[in-house]
Amino acid sequence: MQADFSTDFLIIGAGFSGLVVAERLSAAGWKCVVVDRRSHFGGNAHDSIDAAGVLIHQYGPHYFRTNSPRIVEYLSRFTEWREVNYTIKSFTRGRYWSFPINLNTFEEFTGHKSTSEEFVRWMEQNRIPISQPTNSEEMIVSQVGQELYELFFKGYTLKQWKRHPRDLDASLCGRIPIRTNRDDRYLSENFQALPKEGYSAMFDRMLAASPDVELQLGVDFDEAKARWKYKHLIFTGPIDEFYGRQFGPLPYRSLRFEPESFSSEQLKSREPISQMPGFWQPAMQVNYPDESVPFTRIVEIKHATGQKIDATTIVREYPKDWTVDAEPYYPMPAQDAKQLYQRYAALASAEEQTSFIGRLATYRYYNMDQVTGMALAEADRLISRYGSPLH
Ligand code: FAD
Ligand code: UDP
Repeated sequence: MQADFSTDFLIIGAGFSGLVVAERLSAAGWKCVVVDRRSHFGGNAHDSIDAAGVLIHQYGPHYFRTNSPRIVEYLSRFTEWREVNYTIKSFTRGRYWSFPINLNTFEEFTGHKSTSEEFVRWMEQNRIPISQPTNSEEMIVSQVGQELYELFFKGYTLKQWKRHPRDLDASLCGRIPIRTNRDDRYLSENFQALPKEGYSAMFDRMLAASPDVELQLGVDFDEAKARWKYKHLIFTGPIDEFYGRQFGPLPYRSLRFEPESFSSEQLKSREPISQMPGFWQPAMQVNYPDESVPFTRIVEIKHATGQKIDATTIVREYPKDWTVDAEPYYPMPAQDAKQLYQRYAALASAEEQTSFIGRLATYRYYNMDQVTGMALAEADRLISRYGSPLH
């Protein structure tokens, strides 16, 4: 089929990586077409107002955080921020716990007041000495010992990945901080905030600032290839899909999101639990590590967005096997998966007119700030390679 249209850059995927690279290239004077097979932009960071009027994160909670002032400066061109202390809870043994593990959790565990020194001493006595943890089980037991690992990590990880923590990278459970003070924030980065009016509003402004970016939704890669001639392709979808899964499919984990909304009337009976009028649960996220519970977490994002609305929406997250027609939400953080990815990466590195960026195309468990950084770096590389038509 003859391509009908032409562009400088054809970008597959309108998530963080696709939109950021498009904004930068178009600011340098290049024409960009961004396509996405979904009916909206923003990728997995997309947010929207649901039927109850609540602003929700459609694909699971997206807590923006970063240690990079450059990334904050860049995104701040398109949004103001609402600083958020991301605090969550864990629910097991029939009660809520302070989580990630900190001195408060230790007191809840022992049932009496304690000091950081006592908690450190307890960990010294209970930890399993492993100098260089090689998997997620070792990562946690080497810090807090078997009992806290089993209480908070083992069941959650088995449910989420359908793999034993022993068969998953140390960095996976290593994402979760363990602290001996009372700092109970879920994350440790310096900058923790949400775009003030949400991610979609931020992307709206990014697109408005880029008149040379043409966005086409509901268009997949095959259709786009047939429609546009291009100088350079930027692919942000799954890399194994790009190569027709010729070495076999990469393993992913998928999720099913189950939203449920409540009116202020319905929420009245929840107040003894939520401790706050207008909310269903006592924190923006409650993790459920017990294997007997089929979901991993319940998110009530209104706690974080600060939206002033009487109703609320909670979303239960159920882990799901990945099949070709399910969304590949998570690359599998494990050595065997990485080895298979390396075969695709070798093909990718030989491509001259195609770049692979983002979480799916580089098969990395990357956060939003990291894919933003990757997209900014790739835009710089392409601009220095192709120059700029405006200058
Ligand atoms: P995506 O957002 O996946 O965008 C890729 C886009 O490409 C998609 O819209 C897809 O439809 C499109 N696409 C793929 N293939 C094709 C094709 N063949 N044709 C057309 N279009 C195609 N990060 C954080 O920083 N904080 C968090 O709290 C956080 N929580 C998360 C929770 C969940 C449940 C998940 C799944 C991820 C979370 N992340 C979080 C990670 C965050 O979603 C990613 O870092 C970021 O969205 C990746 O952006 P991306 O553009 O690389 O990919
Ligand atoms: N994890 C766990 N218990 C928890 C929270 C996390 O075992 O209460 C493990 C689990 O394996 C999870 C990983 O730590 O997949 C990373 O958790 P995070 O909350 O960062 O995951 P994400 O938000 O990316 O799904």
